[in-house]
Formats: sequence, structure tokens, C-alpha cells
Amino acid sequence: MSQRTALRPILRPRLFAATMSTQVAVAAAVAGIGFYALYSRRNAAPSDKPIFSSFGFNKLKLHSTELINHNTKKLRFELPNADQPSGLTLSSALLTVSFPSGRWLPVLRPYTPTNDLDEKGFVELMVKHYPGGKQSTHIHSLKPGDTLTFAPIPELKWTPNQHEHVAMIAGGAGISPMYQLARGILKNPADKTRITLVWGVNTDEDLFLANEFNAMQAKYPGRVKVVYVVAQPSASSPHPKGFVTKQILESAGVSPTNEKNKDTKVVVCGPPPMEKALKGTKSLFGGVQGGVLAELGYKPEQVFSF
Ligand SMILES: Cc1cc2nc3c(=O)[nH]c(=O)nc-3n(C[C@H](O)[C@H](O)[C@H](O)COP(=O)(O)OP(=O)(O)OC[C@H]3O[C@@H](n4cnc5c(N)ncnc54)[C@H](O)[C@@H]3O)c2cc1C
Repeated sequence: MSQRTALRPILRPRLFAATMSTQVAVAAAVAGIGFYALYSRRNAAPSDKPIFSSFGFNKLKLHSTELINHNTKKLRFELPNADQPSGLTLSSALLTVSFPSGRWLPVLRPYTPTNDLDEKGFVELMVKHYPGGKQSTHIHSLKPGDTLTFAPIPELKWTPNQHEHVAMIAGGAGISPMYQLARGILKNPADKTRITLVWGVNTDEDLFLANEFNAMQAKYPGRVKVVYVVAQPSASSPHPKGFVTKQILESAGVSPTNEKNKDTKVVVCGPPPMEKALKGTKSLFGGVQGGVLAELGYKPEQVFSF
């Protein structure tokens, strides 16, 4: 919990099965800050200043979109100035805000930039469309020239070489924080952390970042390992069928009993049922019950959820 930002406790329930009263409180609080910050930024920010170096809301214009599979779009948003850095640190997400017509409250959802955090002038998102999903439907409806409101959310503050190994466990679109983190680690020549990615998806088509991760594995043999698990693989799929289970993790070397991977940070991002299966459920008295990661022998402080 210590690694989490002040925003996290209010964001998490908004995303994953919260009570209505929490949602109302979050929306009101964040929207209030947002209107104020948006107004002040529009009038004050010097153009060469990193746009997301501190908390505040900014409207960005959509530059271009590209459909990258049957349900996921890559969207590139322009920063106000072409030479402007984003100011986002490893690792960060962006809280998006939209105001759908007919709703009293804004919709707030985090998305993880997938471009190089040092790229100037742009942030890029990969957004999966959930049928009926409020924000993903809105974002998929945007056309070049439309705007979306963003605020930065620091996620896991990455310290190079703090751990020998990071185990990334992703489900579906939960891959984007892993991609940002893996790119950031490998881009830093001083960071020697080894990486294992286990990515569970529904179909082969959902592996929309497989080429990028395969290239990392090829470039860093022995340091980067990727494992894909597909719930409904095609007849010609080279990937194992199923879900991210204890056996899959053990065979990928994600286990504290694996001598080579003793000093491991486990990072998780996926749909609620997957996260519950991995991390167990919180008991009334604050402890955690069950969960594949605990069964494997990981302690809660070794595990971070995006
Ligand atoms: C730190 C963080 C980073 C994220 N980064 C990305 C990203 O880069 N790209 C991306 O596409 N998403 C990302 N997400 C998920 C994203 O924030 C939204 O939860 C997602 O887009 C659904 O929002 P919605 O408003 O469209 O759906 P909602 O209106 O909230 O939900 C509608 C229905 O969609 C389904 N649904 C919603 N969320 C999920 C989910 N996570 N998994 C499975 N089914 C779901 C459920 O059936 C739900 O009933 C991230 C989440 C977190 C916590």
C-alpha cells in the first residue's frame, strides 16, 4: 500500500466493483479539483514545461487513431507544444475524464501510455473497447481533432535494480502497464532487472503487443522471458490453452522457490476475476485469504497491483 498514491484508494473502487457512495464521492472530489486545475493550466502553463509533472487536468487533442485488432485502438494525443515533454515517470497512468450527455457525473478511468515516456509532443494509449463500457466506448468514438481530459497518476515508482527480477502477470488490456514498465527498464542501460511476462488473453488476436514483447525476448535472451496463455486458442495457435494458473506461473519460473528468481517483485494488472484468483480476497480483519500468489509463497508486500 505504501507505494500507492493518494488517488489510488479512491480510484480502485471506482474501477473495480465499488459501492455507489464511493463513486459519487470520488467523482465529486476529482471533478472539483479538475475544473479548477483545468482552468488554471489553460491560462498559465509555459509551453516547454512538462505537461504532467504535477497533478492537474489538461485537455489534449486527438491526433490519430489506428485499429490494432478486433476491439483495441491505438490513439495518439498531441501535447500543446510539439517539443513539450509529458513529464510522466516510470511507471504512470493517465486518468481520463469524460462528460457523457445525460449523466450527472463525469466518467473517470485510468489508461497507461504505451509510447516512450521521453517522446516529446505526444502521449499514446491503447484502449480496448468493452461493449457497453462507458469510457472505452467514448474513447473509441473520438475522431482526430476531438479532445479528452487527462490527469497524471503515478503508479509503481520504479527503482532500477531494487529487485533482481520482476514478474509481470497481465490479463487482456492489463498488458499496457507491463509494456510501459518493460520498455522503461530495458531502455535504461544501468537497470539490469530480469523480466518474466505471463500474459493471459481470450483469443490469439488479443495478443496485440506480442510482436513488441517477442522482440524484447529476442534482443535480451536469458533476461526477458514471455509466456502467453490463450483461453480460446485457434486450431493453429502455438500458445497453451487456458488461464494463468499456479502451474503456468511455476513453469514460467514465477515462484519464490525458484532459486534464480528468489528476489522478485510481482506486478499484476487484469480483469477483476483474474486479480482475485491471483491475490485472493481481503478478509474482514484486513488479512488476505487464498490466491495463487500466496499459495506459491509470495508475501503481500512483494506484490503490486496496477
Ligand atoms: C492502472 C490501470 C491502467 C489501465 N490501463 C488500461 C489501458 O491502457 N488500456 C485499456 O484498454 N484499459 C486499461 N485499464 C482499464 C480501464 O481503466 C477501464 O477499466 C476499462 O477501459 C473499462 O472502462 P469502461 O468505462 O469502458 O467500462 P465500465 O463502464 O466501467 O464497465 C462496463 C463493463 O465492461 C467490463 N469491464 C470493465 N472493465 C473491465 C476490465 N478491466 N476487464 C474486463 N472487463 C471489464 C465489465 O463487464 C463491465 O461491467 C486500466 C486500468 C487500470 C487500473
